[in-house]
Amino acid sequence: MGHKGRRATFALISFLFCFLSLMSTWAYAQRVVDDDIASIKSLLSSRQFERAEKSAMLLLERALQQQNYPADELLGLGKTLKKASRFTVAKSMLAATLEQYTAHANLEKMSLTLLSLASVERHLANYTAAMAYAQRAMSLAHLERNEELKAKLNLEIGIIHHMQGDVESALTPFKDALGFFRVTRDTQQTSETLVHIADTYHLLNETALSRTYYEDALTLLSTEDSNSILIGTIKIRIGNAQKEEGFFDNAVATISEGLNLLLAADNKKGVAEAQIALGETFIAMGNSSKGFALIQEAMAFAQSSAHAVLIKQARLALAQALLNENNFEQALVYAREGTADARKDKDIRSQLTFLSLQFSAYVSLNEFKKALDIQAVIQQLRALLLNSHNMSAIEGLQAEIELVRQSTAFEQLKESKQLALAQAERENLSTTLFWSLTLAGILSLFLIWSRYRQRQQTVLLAREVKQQTLALQQKNDELKQAYSVLEEVSLRDRLTGLYNRHYLESHLPGELRRSQFAAKQDCNDKKSNSDLLCLLIDIDFFKRINDDYGHIAGDEVLSGFAKVLKDAFRQTDLIIRWGGEEFLVVCRQSNREDLPKLAERCREMVASTPFDIGLTSPIYITCSIGFSLLPPNHMEDFEVLWEQTFEVIDYALYATKLSGRNGWVGVIEIHDEISVHQTPLDAKFKFPGSRIATSFNNVASIKWPEIHEE
Ligand code: GH3
Ligand code: MG
Ligand code: MG
Repeated sequence: MGHKGRRATFALISFLFCFLSLMSTWAYAQRVVDDDIASIKSLLSSRQFERAEKSAMLLLERALQQQNYPADELLGLGKTLKKASRFTVAKSMLAATLEQYTAHANLEKMSLTLLSLASVERHLANYTAAMAYAQRAMSLAHLERNEELKAKLNLEIGIIHHMQGDVESALTPFKDALGFFRVTRDTQQTSETLVHIADTYHLLNETALSRTYYEDALTLLSTEDSNSILIGTIKIRIGNAQKEEGFFDNAVATISEGLNLLLAADNKKGVAEAQIALGETFIAMGNSSKGFALIQEAMAFAQSSAHAVLIKQARLALAQALLNENNFEQALVYAREGTADARKDKDIRSQLTFLSLQFSAYVSLNEFKKALDIQAVIQQLRALLLNSHNMSAIEGLQAEIELVRQSTAFEQLKESKQLALAQAERENLSTTLFWSLTLAGILSLFLIWSRYRQRQQTVLLAREVKQQTLALQQKNDELKQAYSVLEEVSLRDRLTGLYNRHYLESHLPGELRRSQFAAKQDCNDKKSNSDLLCLLIDIDFFKRINDDYGHIAGDEVLSGFAKVLKDAFRQTDLIIRWGGEEFLVVCRQSNREDLPKLAERCREMVASTPFDIGLTSPIYITCSIGFSLLPPNHMEDFEVLWEQTFEVIDYALYATKLSGRNGWVGVIEIHDEISVHQTPLDAKFKFPGSRIATSFNNVASIKWPEIHEE
């Protein structure tokens, strides 16, 4: 071996030695990190949170001292910490991870980390920061064309909007996310998104629609290995809706089912949510002490874990309940805290909710000055909401209506104050006059002066009062006008543009009076056109459309269906979206003999109309109809009369469904005398007999629903 050869061997050996020692140091460091992470994870799963957090921070510090710390492991740990609700530590961990990935320009990992950071900031109620992270991640996802990440980000963005009370803006990202998860058949994410959409509709007061989304999510989950936490959460939401609709017993049952699932899964946050919902239901049922105890328990947990959303829910529930119990002072405490937090979160909607509670409390306490101040803040916030394009039309307008109502009350208050002031001023003047007159005996000059002054003041005062009255008059007119515009908007269904059931409730009594008056005018004239007819129309197997093609397609069919109805009926007929896929038509100035013709025309037009839902070929649907003369027989009380008519058409509609769908069954008139051929419908409504019409073979072939004795 030559001189050169030996040098080369030496160089090779020293290189190998260096390489091996570097490798072993690296492997050692790697193992230590892995061990640390494993021990932190086990601390977390045994709920030793403080120790876990401390070790995590130590680990992070050590990692940051190296140049190339293992970012993937830190990301994993950050996510685990987030899952265990250790948000502050998770945030530091993820921020360090992000730095490392950014340094290496690892776009994919950067976007994943940004998504986790957005979610952590959202949990910490830092919504502006959360949105900024989510949007950065979204730009990266676009760049990478990562559709799944986009969907997850859309979900996150929707939730952030929702948390900020910007409900309307949440719907679009949710629907985008839903579209993707449906296509990839990701049951878990699909049902989670359905729940978020349902929550959003719930905030928009679309209780019925939100329930269909909750129920869809439940159905979807029940086809898979059950996920008890999500199922429990959905049950609570459904129970909440039942409570709001006044079905307290059902609500207690549904929420308790959810509560049990969450207790079994040891999900503290869900349990607290269930306690609040259950507490509110008990309070609504009159069992205040039990209700308060439950909500207080939830509040204690929410505060100990600094869970912003839960704290808000609990505060709202407590404030509202205390207000109902006339404990205004205590209600004010919660309402004020709620307002302060909502202001910090820039959540205008919640601010308005808590401020309205404060307003009511101050008014009840006769503290009008403070109420006025609150009113001013409410006005400002309302203007802010109206200016922001994100404002939900109906929600906002309903808030507007409420505010307009409050302002009207206040203008009146001010007006009466103004009058009282003027009165007092006048009395003051007479006193002055009295003293002047007394003094006149001594100082006639003074008398003249004082008279002059008095006259001038009276003139000024009169002018002032007149001006104020004019201004108030004008303001009142403006408010009235605004009110009628707002009323019009909230009386319509947003999807189809048809009227909704509030509209019917406010217009039906008038229609009935008109028709009864007209009937009296041309009594006994069978050909007269003074009848009021009503038809209840329900799309057949509509749920399948949602299931097969998705909710968006379902919505398209609904608005197309509304158009067919508009073509099938006259312009003067009231067409109302009664709820879901059920429509009610009230025909005015009609003749009962036309009922079969009307129903058949509607049935035929629906069955022959192609509905384009973006597929290669259109789909066809059918509908079932139940109808009746309105009212079927004479009655005084409007409430009873409308309720009974509705029950009759609902029963007839049900009969149509049972008899095979795509048809109609209805009552043309009720006989005055007892008939031998009584139908189950006559029996159910205690009619002497009735003239029934149907599209099925004959009346005898109708399959009637069973009657349950109450
Ligand atoms: P039937 O022939 O017995 O009437 O069957 P159906 O499937 O039409 O009736 P069902 O009442 O079981 O289902 C109605 C569905 O309508 C349930 C709900 O998901 C859906 N739905 C209600 N409102 C809306 C809406 O605004 N949009 C969409 N896409 N679906 C809705
Ligand atoms: Mg239907
Ligand atoms: Mg239906």
